Amino acid sequence: MDLIETLLKDKIITRRQVEDAREKQAGAKKPLSELLVEIGAISENELTKIDSRVYNMPVTNLDEEKVDAGAIKLILSDTAKHYYGIFPLRVEKDILDKDIPVVATSDPQDIVTLDNLKLVVNMQIRPVLSSKSDISRFIEKYYKLDDALYDLLKNVITDAQVSIVGGEKIVKADFNLGEITDEHAPIACLVNIIFTDAVNARASDIHIEPRENFVAIRYRVDGDLRHVIKIPNNLHAPLSARIKVLSGLDVAESRRPQDGRASLKINERKIDIRISTIPTYYGEEVVLRLLDPKESRTELSRIGFEYEELVIFKESIIRPEGMILVTGPTGSGKTSTLYAGLNAVKSETRNIITVEDPIEYLIDGINQIQVNPQINVTFAAALRSILRQDPDVILVGEIRDSETAEIAFRASLTGHLVFSTMHTNSSVATINRLLDMGLEPYLVSSSIILIVAQRLVRFICQYCKEEHEPEARIIEKLKCHIDGLGIKKFYKGKGCQKCNFSGYFGRTAIFEQFKINEKIRAFISNKSSEDLILKETRHAGLRLLVESGLRKAAKGLTTLEEVARVADVQDDNIVVNKPVDLEARFKLLVADDEEDVVDYLQKRLAASGYDIIRACDGKQAIEFSVKERPDLILMDVNMPNMDGFEAIRILRSRLETASIPIMILTARQDKTDELKGLDIGADDYLTKPFDFEKLLARIKMLLKRRGK
Ligand SMILES: [Zn+2]
Repeated sequence: MDLIETLLKDKIITRRQVEDAREKQAGAKKPLSELLVEIGAISENELTKIDSRVYNMPVTNLDEEKVDAGAIKLILSDTAKHYYGIFPLRVEKDILDKDIPVVATSDPQDIVTLDNLKLVVNMQIRPVLSSKSDISRFIEKYYKLDDALYDLLKNVITDAQVSIVGGEKIVKADFNLGEITDEHAPIACLVNIIFTDAVNARASDIHIEPRENFVAIRYRVDGDLRHVIKIPNNLHAPLSARIKVLSGLDVAESRRPQDGRASLKINERKIDIRISTIPTYYGEEVVLRLLDPKESRTELSRIGFEYEELVIFKESIIRPEGMILVTGPTGSGKTSTLYAGLNAVKSETRNIITVEDPIEYLIDGINQIQVNPQINVTFAAALRSILRQDPDVILVGEIRDSETAEIAFRASLTGHLVFSTMHTNSSVATINRLLDMGLEPYLVSSSIILIVAQRLVRFICQYCKEEHEPEARIIEKLKCHIDGLGIKKFYKGKGCQKCNFSGYFGRTAIFEQFKINEKIRAFISNKSSEDLILKETRHAGLRLLVESGLRKAAKGLTTLEEVARVADVQDDNIVVNKPVDLEARFKLLVADDEEDVVDYLQKRLAASGYDIIRACDGKQAIEFSVKERPDLILMDVNMPNMDGFEAIRILRSRLETASIPIMILTARQDKTDELKGLDIGADDYLTKPFDFEKLLARIKMLLKRRGK
């Protein structure tokens, strides 16, 4: 029996109400039952119950359902919204042990929707009944949290396995992409993807920066910040909340800076994360420092010393007392050198204490103290307490003020080996800096054993290294050193996928080690000029930073450009890549090996207001996608070197290119190709020859869908 007839027979509604609803139906494409609810003839719950009886379909209460990620991923946002009124709950097994998605619907009469859905997912469907408002609410909650987020999650190919192994507060939680169960599940997914992607990209830091119209996610790789992806503003609050939960921070507090830690296991790799949040004008900025304990450079043999350099350093640290200073700007690897030094002098018979801000790595067998000015644990205060603990070796994270300097230097004269760092540019300049801080010349001259100035240079990527002739002006600038060392050949990285087309992969340190001898001690005590001291140290064999760097360049470990860059800087060695212009005209990347096709597209698309980037194969398509960040990619399938499918697969495997819309444009008219293309993450598919106006319309639609 029909639903309406049942309702009439049971006297739940009147004929008059049916007439009213029919009248309304003329103007609205809605089922009659829905209109009956709208005019108040029947309640939604009542309707669902009767539907269940009439159509013999079970009813479910969505709030009591455990929603399964697999089902959500199976039926994408577009589909769920297109067939408004369906929501996937879970995947069950039918009697033949085949997967069968259980889908909530509010309209059991809508056979067309259910049939279409079967075609879309290519499976049978098991419908259950739920009220329309509940289903809308769930679509809202799970799908509309943000379409862009879903687009992103849908596109990123990942097998991320992330779990928390413990934070400052022990958080007991396990989550992975396979389980979307809680309210913020899509956000948990996003956080997992960001962590995994950042680790794969070898990032040392992740920056989550709210801007006026979007949130920028950036990674620091080999010292440089790189824009990765923009995400919508409304995801910012849940994203930072999720990260705060992971790191045991106060989720409700967003107006004051907070610091926390977490330990994650990402694809079986343990990563320690240091989190710091700070309120900015547009919201809370979150910076995550990723520390891989395995990668920590705490052995002298691993931080970049050349053999002769290592000998000097080792000779200095075996002394029972005195001061070893490591200097350089932020991010020059000073901490690693100190940790490596401590590890080398560590023994059962020695008491080693550190005072640091912050503690980067925990080292076995060493007592580490965290500076905390809020409870008056400053460098100076901690240092005074340490001295009462009978230490043999002390590490003072940094000498910033004269009080700390005074205590540290006195300690180094009274039977303690002291390690510390300072923010000075060259080894010799450090002497003047100490005297400027008010230290007595005799205190400085009699305690210092060694001053190490250091910088980090990027390694040439070994996968794409080739011989290379540096620019004449750089050679000119360093000519005397190059000639002095007799260097003939230089190398650079051409750029490949492994190094993200930067030509560099990883970093190492270069050193300038200033050893104090008797003559220099006298110079310092007499407050001699820096020039005079430098001359004497050179005479005694001081190797300058630039020379240490050039030795590495001569071995093909780094480039001449890199040496010039870091050895030349006055203050800061952090170079930010050419900023990606996020607000410019639309840039379309056309990847096709047929030049006339690209010529034609370039001419027509430029006339329509788009900037065009040309790529002649899949490899170039990837390279230019990473470097130029196009707004959309038109991708041919058959290309030399790397075909379009492979290129799409690679683009979709990384967060920074995962959300760029891709339209396949090919002469192949094969239906399986089309399905394959869409399956690996293309957004649209058009066969050649094509109608330009049609292409243009579809480009506009894709850009619009991505909120561009
Ligand atoms: Zn490379």
